[in-house]
Amino acid sequence: MSETVEPRTADIRYETETPVLYETRGAVAWLTLNRPEFANSQNSQMTYAIDDCLRMAVADDAVKVIVLRGAGKHFSGGHDIGTPGRDVAKSWPERKTLWYDHVNKPGAEYFYAREQEVYLGMCRRWRELPKPTIAMVHGACIAGGLMLAWVCDLIVAADDAYFVDPVVRMGIPGVEYFAHPYELNPRIAKEFLFTGERMSAERAYQMGMVNRVVPRADLETATTQLAERIAGMPRLGLALTKQAINHVEDLQGKRLAMDAVFHMHHFAHAQGDLTTGNNLGGMDVKAMASANKEKPTREG
Ligand code: ZN
Repeated sequence: MSETVEPRTADIRYETETPVLYETRGAVAWLTLNRPEFANSQNSQMTYAIDDCLRMAVADDAVKVIVLRGAGKHFSGGHDIGTPGRDVAKSWPERKTLWYDHVNKPGAEYFYAREQEVYLGMCRRWRELPKPTIAMVHGACIAGGLMLAWVCDLIVAADDAYFVDPVVRMGIPGVEYFAHPYELNPRIAKEFLFTGERMSAERAYQMGMVNRVVPRADLETATTQLAERIAGMPRLGLALTKQAINHVEDLQGKRLAMDAVFHMHHFAHAQGDLTTGNNLGGMDVKAMASANKEKPTREG
């Protein structure tokens, strides 16, 4: 039986702006997602730029703590599903995992290989950084935005922040980095996913998903104070403590659970493709994204 390969192509445009800003203030490195006109939706260019900045922060002995935040009104609206900078079909020669390139692969293999690299692989790399990371979240933190916040060790939220994973509407059981039942208790995680409703910063705090909620005007000051307090601790002590707690989470099944659910996620993408010709279950994500730039969803 011959295999039919239908290369997927896209109108790839390259952005000239810097998708992530990097600066250090004392012992703290600040990474700022910098696509504010698109609610900091994440294209691959941004993903690889985050990775580059994190490598810089880890390599710099003067940096003890890393903060991740978003420019503009929101932390992140999720994965890029319809901006002019969408670059799903681009090859990235400096890959971060040992997965082969997704471009020109047939059928479900295309998204499987891509998401192993840019979503699951990247998030796991970032979770395992040997330096403490803090997500400073304001405004929207939607779907793929959750993944960025969750891989950080701590989350400081503004009182206007909200969290939502709406992908069950597409027939998909949550975003690729399936940490929901670890970030929230299982019953709350089910409610979060079943309803696709926004969770306020205050409720996320009550559920243990965020460490602190502060007024928006105090967000940067509060985050700075927390980061500087942590930066006073010894580097190796911090690195070992982080590893210890991550290790315990993995002993509790986090890593294995995520591997299993990743395959359910891709079964859902394949089902969407088979039944609607769209791996997001027929959702017109471009229309959704353009209808409300504050609610861009994700490319799957
Ligand atoms: Zn996906």
